Amino acid sequence: MNDLDPLFEKLSKSSFRSSFILKDKELDYLHSKGLNVILEHGRDFIDTRLAPANPPNDGKQTPMRNHPIFIAQHATATCCRGCLQKWHSIAKDNHELSEEEREYVLSVLTKWLEQYIDG
Ligand SMILES: [Zn+2]
Repeated sequence: MNDLDPLFEKLSKSSFRSSFILKDKELDYLHSKGLNVILEHGRDFIDTRLAPANPPNDGKQTPMRNHPIFIAQHATATCCRGCLQKWHSIAKDNHELSEEEREYVLSVLTKWLEQYIDG
């Protein structure tokens, strides 16, 4: 597994990225469903919204609210292929995300969400 600390340090220096926090409805949802279920939803969002080559409406496919994964994606710059390229060096160039790249995105989301578990 990659060491994600440098990434999280960089994210913490972005006032835009660090403005995304879990609270209210989305935080309650995480706690009521549990992390594993939320990560299953996350995997599904990655597969359908992020992984296809040239996803439709790239940059706008991730809502700003209503699911903890959406918030986590904005907080970690895994919200669209443009941000994946800029922040995570995953090229946008017309390729479908590999299994390894999907797992990487999920590991980033996991690390971000874990701060809200047992907190
Ligand atoms: Zn984005």
